[in-house]
Amino acid sequence: MRGDIPVDDATLDVFLELLEVQHRLKGSYSSTLQRVDARAAKAAIASGRPAASAVGVWLTEEEIAQGVREIAEPLIAGLPGEAERVRGVLEAVGGGRLKLKPVAEMMLRGDLEGAEAAAEEAGVDPTALSSLVAWALQPAFAALSQAISPLELGDWGSGRCPVCGSYAALGYFDRGGVFHLKCQFCGTEWEYPSGKCPFCGNDDPDLVSVIEVAEGKPLALGICHVCGSYWKIVDERRASGEVPRDLYDLWTLALDVVARRILR
Ligand SMILES: [Zn+2]
Ligand SMILES: [Zn+2]
Repeated sequence: MRGDIPVDDATLDVFLELLEVQHRLKGSYSSTLQRVDARAAKAAIASGRPAASAVGVWLTEEEIAQGVREIAEPLIAGLPGEAERVRGVLEAVGGGRLKLKPVAEMMLRGDLEGAEAAAEEAGVDPTALSSLVAWALQPAFAALSQAISPLELGDWGSGRCPVCGSYAALGYFDRGGVFHLKCQFCGTEWEYPSGKCPFCGNDDPDLVSVIEVAEGKPLALGICHVCGSYWKIVDERRASGEVPRDLYDLWTLALDVVARRILR
């Protein structure tokens, strides 16, 4: 798998440390799920809306700030070029100039402009802020996803994640040949027709291309000619070893590079 990932060792090390921190955070956030109305979450899914629309951000300001501080550690240590921007966010939070919960709520609603405005108002780098908050929220939603599964997702026909509401640009064929989407944010998996665009629902075979990017590798790229989006595909029937599904997004990083080149 290492040979398939087009990043240098130092960056990959930071990625892996980040995953470890997130794994730890998922454990510590799971106790906060007591505050989540699981019934409302399931009812939302049953009526076709993502659980997040009913649940919102249930973490407190301090819980999010703690997550952000822990996420920041490997970034500051391993990515010197980013350290200053990351520290800027920590200082603004520590000094009370920036509240993270409203930013998290805006991001969950998809209000990225609002999040950017909050960053500018606090004098911090918008990308650093949104990345830190997203990485801190991710394990909380992964814990939520686990807590409300096994999900009754038979009728969930959407390419948006039933738990967090993000669009999934990653899917896999299991060994039985059934296709599933996998949310890159919270890890939720659900069955979805292969050859159907997760973003716009186009399933006209003439308007969807599936491209195998490297011979002999179980990786392919789906491209929609209606909305111009792409999604990454892992075919487990053709995989030689077992790669944990939570690493698929990382494993398929080369597909993002190819897709950006094709769709440019
Ligand atoms: Zn999700
Ligand atoms: Zn599409």
